[in-house]
Amino acid sequence: MKEERESKWPSWLPIRSELSDLIPYGAPQISGVIALNTNENPFPLPSAVVEQVLNVLPKVLENLNRYPDRDANELRGELAKYVTKISKVAISDKNIWAANGSNEILQTLFLACGGRGALGFLPSYSVHPLIAKTTGVRWIGAEREGNFELNLGEAITQIASERPGLTFLTTPNNPTGNITGIDDLEKLAIATRAVDGLLVVDEAYAEFSSEPSAVTLIASYPNVVVVRTMSKAFAFAGVRVGYAVCDPSVVLAMLVTRLPYHLSSPTQALALVALANSELLLAEVSAIVLERERVRMELTEMGFKVSPSSANFLLFAGFKKSAKITWEELVASGILIRDVGLEGFLRVTIGLPVENEKFLTAIDRYRP
Ligand SMILES: *Cc1c(COP(=O)(O)O)cnc(C)c1O
Repeated sequence: MKEERESKWPSWLPIRSELSDLIPYGAPQISGVIALNTNENPFPLPSAVVEQVLNVLPKVLENLNRYPDRDANELRGELAKYVTKISKVAISDKNIWAANGSNEILQTLFLACGGRGALGFLPSYSVHPLIAKTTGVRWIGAEREGNFELNLGEAITQIASERPGLTFLTTPNNPTGNITGIDDLEKLAIATRAVDGLLVVDEAYAEFSSEPSAVTLIASYPNVVVVRTMSKAFAFAGVRVGYAVCDPSVVLAMLVTRLPYHLSSPTQALALVALANSELLLAEVSAIVLERERVRMELTEMGFKVSPSSANFLLFAGFKKSAKITWEELVASGILIRDVGLEGFLRVTIGLPVENEKFLTAIDRYRP
């Protein structure tokens, strides 16, 4: 007889059996430390933007008795203009869906199109397989090369043999930082189209990279869905706004699985202010990229092995002690970085110059 495993749940709680081993996702949130663990933009909102938020709030607050615009029409229009501007391809509001962070976009997609399973190339964003599990979608975890590059030939073979409804590709990839170029994405778009599947390109860090966005593929490949967020480059993580750029029929499919009135009116109003100030907010991106290159050089000089990154974080290895102990001792000294569960590696988010300096001083003790 199979031994019953002891469950952490009370016996009266009817949690679904496939979820009973899971723990809530999330990096530690610790106060009083330098937080370089969740890839936020370290710059606080500029005061000019704070002022504009305060100007729009009274009207939003007066109308809180009413449900928000259920289809977020104005916001989708402004997101379309922003995407058109940065990608130089015509995107309309019908190509856009918006939600409470790109994680909600991902969940909506899993619910709508996960029927034939979902494929991803690991290591990558661990929330993809997690949402697969919570939405009851079969997850197929394929592997990247030892240097975290995608093996394109193998990926295309796997798509053809598994025939997934959803194929996920994160670029720049999290937690590794490397990109998949637009030519390879096009080949993946062709491979997924051949099996009537969607290619979901998670571009959470696109603004930190100079590679063209996969939104340039949508007109030719309507099965390409690009998922983006205002949490990282836009310095808007606390507001929770993410969006999909895709063919209008994918938007209609997502409308079926979204919750009614999911995006609050304050959220929509604040996102509009941020988009009206996109140039000001995104000006910080180049400062972060410069800091990334400086931190990369310093870590390399200390003897660490640093993975190439086109995002706002660095994955690095080569600690004198184990990654786990290094992480713990750094936390004890007031610096919180991320143990992403990759043997021998830790990930650090690029912070303010003064924070990066403290991190570099602390990590120097662990050089190989
Ligand atoms: C941070 C992140 C997201 C989620 O961001 P939201 O805050 O939910 O918009 C999605 N994908 C990747 C790869 C990320 O790193």
